[in-house]
Amino acid sequence: MEDSRLVKVEDYEVIVGSEKVERVREKAKLLQDLHVVHINSTYYGGGVAEILSSLILLMNSTGIKTGWRVIQGSPDFFTITKKIHNALQGGDINLTDRKLKIYEDVVYENAIRNHLDHDMVIIHDPQPLPMIRHYKRKCPWIWRCHIDLTNPNRELWNYLSPLIERYDAVILSIREYQQKLKTPQLFFLPAINPFSIKNRDMTEAEIQERLVHYNIPTDLPLVVQVSRFDRWKDPEGVIRAFKIARKEIDCTLVLLGNIATDDPEGEAVYDSLIKQREDRIIILSHQDTALVNALQRRATVVMQKSIREGFGLTVAEAMWKGAAVIGGNVGGIRYQIEDGVNGFLVSSVEEAADRLIQLLKNKKLREEMGQRARETVREKFLLIRLLEQYLDLFGSFETLYLLRGSIVV
Ligand code: UDP
Repeated sequence: MEDSRLVKVEDYEVIVGSEKVERVREKAKLLQDLHVVHINSTYYGGGVAEILSSLILLMNSTGIKTGWRVIQGSPDFFTITKKIHNALQGGDINLTDRKLKIYEDVVYENAIRNHLDHDMVIIHDPQPLPMIRHYKRKCPWIWRCHIDLTNPNRELWNYLSPLIERYDAVILSIREYQQKLKTPQLFFLPAINPFSIKNRDMTEAEIQERLVHYNIPTDLPLVVQVSRFDRWKDPEGVIRAFKIARKEIDCTLVLLGNIATDDPEGEAVYDSLIKQREDRIIILSHQDTALVNALQRRATVVMQKSIREGFGLTVAEAMWKGAAVIGGNVGGIRYQIEDGVNGFLVSSVEEAADRLIQLLKNKKLREEMGQRARETVREKFLLIRLLEQYLDLFGSFETLYLLRGSIVV
């Protein structure tokens, strides 16, 4: 099967050099025909789906047979799993038996439907987490949690941890999310695909065409935040900071958002935001990745004013485009933005407004930060690095299993 449109590891050579590419290819050679499956709860919307849609194809291009399954669930299942998500990020939760029964029953139904006969199973986030209960364990199972675990709700954690400890390894985004667990914990920062429609180079004409298509005015500087409609992304705070900044320097705010299929809260957030629409406060919900690209490229300043963030893919996407980014001083964003060097970190609306004004007024600063931001992504946040971490992990299990085999013999 040959398809020239698929990104291959070799395509990264022009960005990261041949040495790294060769190293990754060698590691993949040792794992040829390994059969891997990733399981999560949405094929669209949000960072996990974004990563999986590129990473899985890239893994296949190296000869690792990698599949992707998405669990199904009723609306009440996703209402409960969103509550679980929120509580893992520190929110409250009322864990009733009724809720847990729905959660566990729907996961069980998915386990019945999914026949897994793989060499490696990777479960993403809490939605499919209990699946592990329902299989005879014949291979390593890895739980990859993308959530900001700075301060998880303890009652929920106590319920989840015996399930998590059934896994062979847990992958978290940063060391600060480490928990008390018997299972080994690894730390993989997420990454972006520089060749996707969302991230590839665009000509000025292409950028302009997308903006004109959606009637986005470019007469004033653009301040942009691209995010799922979610309170943790603090869109209200962005609007407030923008209003303060606008008193000093005139500009246009664009909030582009979407709603993931596993996030039932998105609509309410969107409804509350559109009430705040004004001439210069543009709130859009379009499923158009080229528009994301165009906005991040044309923006004078990109904001990601999250108050919790496992890791901000949108931050990496904007930094890759050389944008000056103002990010919330939380979670994974702290590993992406070095304050004052390749962007700014902020902890309040007032601070966000100050940095916004500073950047809007200072083109040189924006350009310097933007250049350093692109270098940061080149060094740390491209998918080839994440692929290599997975290969190392798979390799370590392979060795372990061979060793166990030889002990038995
Ligand atoms: N995204 C998008 N369109 C939108 C809003 C978000 O394509 O209208 C994408 C965004 O570009 C990024 C992902 O959704 O790739 C969000 O990932 P992030 O890690 O920033 O946040 P999450 O949604 O996972 O919390």
